Amino acid sequence: MVRRVAVVGAGVSGLAATKCCLEEGLEPTCFERSEDIGGLWRYTEHVEEGRASIYRTVFTNSCKEMMCYPDFPFPEDHPNYMHNARLQQYIRDYAKHFDLLRHIRFKTVVTNIRKRPDFCATGQWEVVTQRDGKEETAVFDAVMICSGHHIYPNLPLDHFPGIEKFKGCYLHSREYKEPEKFRGKKVLVVGLGNSGCDIAVELSTVASQVYLSSRSGSWVLGRICDHGYPWDMVIITRFRTWLDSILPKSVSDWLYVRGMNQLVKHENFGLMPVNRTSRKEPVLNDDLLSRITCGVVLIKPDVKEFRETSVVFQDGTVQDDVDVVVFATGYTYTYSFMEDESIIKSRNNEVTLYKSILPPHLEKPTMAVIGLVQSYGSAIPTADLQCRWTIKVFQGQCTLPPVSKMMDDIDEKMRMKLQWYGSSTTLQTDYITYMDELASAIGAKPNVLKLLVTDPRLALEVFFGPCTPYQFRLTGPGRWSGARRAILTQWDRMLRPTRTRIAPDAPSLFPISAMLGVLFLPLLLLLAVLYW
Ligand code: FAD
Ligand code: NAP
Repeated sequence: MVRRVAVVGAGVSGLAATKCCLEEGLEPTCFERSEDIGGLWRYTEHVEEGRASIYRTVFTNSCKEMMCYPDFPFPEDHPNYMHNARLQQYIRDYAKHFDLLRHIRFKTVVTNIRKRPDFCATGQWEVVTQRDGKEETAVFDAVMICSGHHIYPNLPLDHFPGIEKFKGCYLHSREYKEPEKFRGKKVLVVGLGNSGCDIAVELSTVASQVYLSSRSGSWVLGRICDHGYPWDMVIITRFRTWLDSILPKSVSDWLYVRGMNQLVKHENFGLMPVNRTSRKEPVLNDDLLSRITCGVVLIKPDVKEFRETSVVFQDGTVQDDVDVVVFATGYTYTYSFMEDESIIKSRNNEVTLYKSILPPHLEKPTMAVIGLVQSYGSAIPTADLQCRWTIKVFQGQCTLPPVSKMMDDIDEKMRMKLQWYGSSTTLQTDYITYMDELASAIGAKPNVLKLLVTDPRLALEVFFGPCTPYQFRLTGPGRWSGARRAILTQWDRMLRPTRTRIAPDAPSLFPISAMLGVLFLPLLLLLAVLYW
């Protein structure tokens, strides 16, 4: 029986794991190599070994209603998207509220995790840790790995011929903290992900010129979309997911490209993704387009070669006198503390985890990797639900299919990822589909049809409104009594921080909107019924 659980890391995932263990009566011990909680979100002036590093101006790209722990909404007056320092304060408040700190051992690195000799019978692990040079080994019934995946830079220098001849300096985005030392320089940023865009935009305020190189393009969205509402509250809805699931792919692809191109024609800015219909994670940046328009950021294709002071691009153009290159080329992940890393990376070094969480080949399901997914949705609620599902598996209350079925499921997911995102090994996944899969398995998926009868107002908000984290704590294990209220008041909390001056409403179009409402309500009800 699982009782003692080792949690590796005290970032947002590790805190969720610790809290969910306590909620289910387990005894977690969380090991954190640094001196504090928060993981990636704890900004420091200097890069720390083994912990993610962010630049000073990182703001969240998920809004507060979509990003919170599902039973701990952000304070009403918090901005919708927030600076890392505010998020770190929220993380501290969460840990304090649920009294998590006393379960965390700080400055303690997990150096080795191995199966006990009697693993087949007990499912137990030996966890070796180091603190102040002193090594300790302890036995745990289960392990939850929450060590993050934005730590180790992906810096494939062999993809960049001539970099060894380049006389300027180069760095990975992990080492970038602030723009001042790049004042007056010509900078090339490689990579059109969120880091590359943020850094290019920030540098463009001080550098003499910024070039932003992209090999395959990206969709670029702003944090605010229709009528100024947060993009994720508008886009991440059950209704849209349902539409995507019933429409022929060609139609949904067309709608997708149309939606992405609504504000700006991506081809006119050199941004259009090579595979236009790929559901690759969009970049969230409010300033990139205006920076490009003002000429201070120039979009370039992939780098072909570096020379001593210049860069040659794939289209044959040459940029002279480049002083600095920032490689914003993303991250790789490793689990070097695993004595047998093939438990996690089981096939050709590919991560093959059941539900993106569980190594399928273990004799006993007592290990989980939390947070190793990426989606339109936010990391915090995803980790929370992953932890709740995992604990039910640990406790034997959620049974797993045989290994062959789990492998079939993994292969099927990889096939779908290839179709949707253009890569079978990406961590990208569809948020609502994934969350519902986990929630269904533990009885935490909201039943919209039933709600339509018992609580129609809530049902409509759950189906057509943003799929906020509270939805997954309406029912089932870990049910939160405040979830219903949180859902029905989410738009008020969203408006609170921006309506800071009383302004008159726009002229009312009441008769038209009322008539449309009367016409459309039966249709919406019919759609909801068809969904189930
Ligand atoms: P981390 O935050 O990386 O925490 C891992 C912890 O484990 C660290 O504290 C580390 O010290 C510890 N650790 C690692 N190895 C060991 C070991 N061997 N022993 C002991 N301790 C160990 N996601 C969103 O949802 N919204 C956003 O707006 C968003 N913005 C982002 C911005 C940036 C710049 C980046 C890089 C990522 C962003 N993300 C965002 C994704 C981000 O990864 C998650 O928000 C979240 O921080 C992941 O938390 P985590 O706990 O899984 O990992
Ligand atoms: P990323 O999303 O993985 O993007 C990496 C970029 O580098 C991609 O454009 C990729 O191009 C390119 N690249 C990778 N290898 C390359 C190569 N060999 N040659 C040329 N280009 C290459 O990494 P990231 O931008 O650091 O983001 C990591 C995570 O942090 C993401 O989840 C992101 O959302 C998050 N983040 C959030 C914020 C925020 O505002 N809150 C800020 C920064 C990061 P391809 O697309 O062609 O692969």
